[in-house]
Amino acid sequence: MADDQATGTKIRGAQQVPGGGDAVPAQPEKKREIKTDLCVIGAGSGGVRAARFSAGFGARVAVAESRYLGGTCVNVGCVPKKLLVYGAHFSEDFEQAKGFGWTSGEAEFDWPTLIANKNHEIHRLNGVYRNLLANSGVTLMEGHAKLRGPHEVEINGQVHTAERIMIATGGWPQMPDIPGREHAITSNEVFFLEQMPQRVVVVGGGYIAVEFASIFNGLGADVSLMYRGELFLRGFDGSVRTHLHEELAKRGMDILFKTEIDAIEKLADGTLQLTLNDGSSFNTDCVFYATGRRPMLDNLGMETVNVELDDKGFVKVDEFYQTTEPSIIAVGDVIGRVQLTPVALAEGMAVARRLFKPEQYRAVDYHHIHTAVFSLPNIGTVGLTEEEAKKAGHDVQVFESRFRPMKLSLTNNQERTLMKLVVDAQTDRVLGCHMVGPDAGEIIQSLAIALKAGATKQIFDDTIGVHPTAAEEFVTMRTATR
Ligand code: FAD
Ligand code: NDP
Repeated sequence: MADDQATGTKIRGAQQVPGGGDAVPAQPEKKREIKTDLCVIGAGSGGVRAARFSAGFGARVAVAESRYLGGTCVNVGCVPKKLLVYGAHFSEDFEQAKGFGWTSGEAEFDWPTLIANKNHEIHRLNGVYRNLLANSGVTLMEGHAKLRGPHEVEINGQVHTAERIMIATGGWPQMPDIPGREHAITSNEVFFLEQMPQRVVVVGGGYIAVEFASIFNGLGADVSLMYRGELFLRGFDGSVRTHLHEELAKRGMDILFKTEIDAIEKLADGTLQLTLNDGSSFNTDCVFYATGRRPMLDNLGMETVNVELDDKGFVKVDEFYQTTEPSIIAVGDVIGRVQLTPVALAEGMAVARRLFKPEQYRAVDYHHIHTAVFSLPNIGTVGLTEEEAKKAGHDVQVFESRFRPMKLSLTNNQERTLMKLVVDAQTDRVLGCHMVGPDAGEIIQSLAIALKAGATKQIFDDTIGVHPTAAEEFVTMRTATR
């Protein structure tokens, strides 16, 4: 065992650094080499999973991280986002509590408190990740990693050699190149704003856009959501898209479709003046771009290896996550398949097993990947949309229900929940389940198991509901609506 000078973490199975005695001159630090079986670049969801399990299977593993342990999900993604969603939810809880007899003082929200508490929790999770790596026997090297060839990675001026290298460097927000874009923020900055802007323009129509529009709306800001297309959430079920549109509008959100920003100008008082594609002006305090993510390959030394990229710039891999350079593997957002944490985890796990525990290898099943959008209300979805099922040639039967949840019956809140099943009329197989409503993200997880097991509509019908819940509606929809 030797000490890794980058972090002080113990290196499992590493060679003692030569040099040191009176007679032998010290080796120059630059040339110090650590031979590992796997050097992972990026301690995010995919990288940490691959590193920990590979080390657990007996491999000598090092992981390099330049920014934050746990990657995007822990630091500027899923986790802090979900904490802000919880925070935003309280405004409706306070409002609804009145219908149940509660009286409380005027509720006040303090953004710096939420951000400070969130930072504290993320800091704790960074420590958890540090311990997880150390306890698995993984060498952590903190610094920017750069490829120097098919088996070499340079970190903090030291070159490390490895039998295999894994690129797990994730993604980075991208925004269109418009005049004044330097005045806008992305998901990288939004979690660290010192004050909550009173007026926010969110640009985009994907996951991050609807989630953050909901967060700012729930926290009391004036939110405008600007999307370039006719209806946001392209690729989601049509009923889900229209239902969420209606519900967000009911909450007072200003939703502008077919709208793009041509330029942003900062006025003397700090106001951001936007020029929109119809020539009109729009004033706001904050412009937040959520217009997709590109692969993070900046200054990675890609020119030193034979790793090909696909037409969108993501790392090209085969079914085993093997790049076109035989010693280099890639997983997670950087390969641009499905940009979700559980998918990056599954890919990292598959690589660890294939390389170091082949008898346990299982390919990642990309079929039926369920997903939740943590807008308020949530979306939960698994399987085919109605549109996809029709396009694939299924004889489609749709069971759809819209209802006011029982919890709202003592309140003035007019929010409605949507539940929808897409069924193949010939085989009776349930092809897709979709929901917009409270806890949809929680409910869809179990339905994903049913779909994976090949459940038919008859099995849904034969399943006794849990009463009184909203979820029971999924097993009580008897009459096809289409
Ligand atoms: P990452 O987690 O991005 O990790 C890559 C790591 O590599 C980073 O830590 C980075 O610093 C490091 N790195 C990059 N280059 C180098 C280098 N040269 N040297 C050393 N280190 C380097 N997914 C969900 O499933 N559910 C959600 O609710 C969800 N919410 C999200 C919300 C937001 C705002 C965002 C942005 C994403 C969200 N995602 C969510 C997506 C999820 O975060 C990603 O799919 C996931 O983090 C991808 O994991 P990864 O391992 O591929 O990359
Ligand atoms: P998405 O790919 O989901 O959405 C990007 C949006 O930006 C689309 O509506 C797209 O429009 C629009 N867009 C793209 N380019 C431009 C442009 N030049 N001008 C105007 N609009 C543009 O990306 P996100 O950034 O929202 O999120 C990245 C990924 O992170 C997601 O795809 C998801 O995989 C993951 N994520 C998952 C979450 C979850 O699981 N709850 C939460 C947050 C992120 P169009 O549709 O017209 O192309």
